Amino acid sequence: MIIITKPNITDDELDHLRERIEAAGLHTHLSRGEHRTIIGCIGDETRLAELPLRSIPGVESVMPVLKPYKLASREFVVNRTIVRIGEEASIGGGQLTVIAGPCSVENRAMLHATAAGVRLAGATILRGGAFKPRSSPYSFQGLGREALQLLAEARAEHGLPVVTEVLDTRDVDLVAEHSDMLQVGARNMQNYALLAELGRVQRPVLLKRGLSATISELLMSAEYIMAHGNHNVVLCERGIRTFERATRNTLDVSAIPVLQRETHLPVIVDPSHAGGDAKLVAPLAFAAIAAGADGLIIEVHPNPEVALSDGDQSLDIPSFAALMQRIPAFAAAAGRTMSPRAVLRGVAVA
Ligand code: PEP
Ligand code: MN
Repeated sequence: MIIITKPNITDDELDHLRERIEAAGLHTHLSRGEHRTIIGCIGDETRLAELPLRSIPGVESVMPVLKPYKLASREFVVNRTIVRIGEEASIGGGQLTVIAGPCSVENRAMLHATAAGVRLAGATILRGGAFKPRSSPYSFQGLGREALQLLAEARAEHGLPVVTEVLDTRDVDLVAEHSDMLQVGARNMQNYALLAELGRVQRPVLLKRGLSATISELLMSAEYIMAHGNHNVVLCERGIRTFERATRNTLDVSAIPVLQRETHLPVIVDPSHAGGDAKLVAPLAFAAIAAGADGLIIEVHPNPEVALSDGDQSLDIPSFAALMQRIPAFAAAAGRTMSPRAVLRGVAVA
């Protein structure tokens, strides 16, 4: 249930209103917009039945939230959420953010070469897998702790915040300590124990859509993290499994405007895992921006031919730089700006 307050509600009235709701055993979530304030009520709403909410001073209207996801829903929060990553990067709020880096951190040299290359090309967040969710137990599983150390070093040296995947509830604190954003991979989107654990930490979470997950299931997974206390969630469309075999997955372009309609959380797109082919990264990235994405996450490797994972879909550094030069025109057409830091590093302004 949400309560919309009168524009002239006083702080005392607001406090009193929240106290009444909390005394009934529910939690309140305050969302202040320019013109109105919304109080979201979380918990057993039947307990509010006895409360004459509409007669409490400052209340304008009371409305049910019909969606099963509440904290993630646009009804619940007035303004779109901007998620801050590290000291200077952010996702959401009208800018287009580009995250780039290798699928897996393979060694120090390749990570530094990639970090330097993507930074110069205008990426503002570095990605790199330490714990890899591979389909085969015989494939490279990532360097684990050593990769976390290398990522932390790369962050310090190149000034880029880092995002890396966490696979196991037992590693949440360790990964949070070494990174600026924690990624939940497609295969773990419905690992509710992991989502609950991520609700406990205050690091932003990049939540990737499951291979066969509906949009509503993706939002319910975001709700899990939020319900456990962490509201810094960014959603990622990374392609879903369909009957089509010409591409690794099928990029669900429609999910972008649908998510933007349903949630206040930022929505980014991973064209690398969607298409599974370096040649498809640029067209899918452009489509994502045109459909309203807040950002992109792109796999880049200094020499994709020898990559230990996802080489086929990884861009080399010159191809990534060339793509970055073309992005501002699409961003401008979709009403988004590039981050000033990206522009500073030579990304063209459309
Ligand atoms: C990745 O980002 O490297 C990855 C494994 O992605 P996904 O979980 O979307 O397959
Ligand atoms: Mn990958």
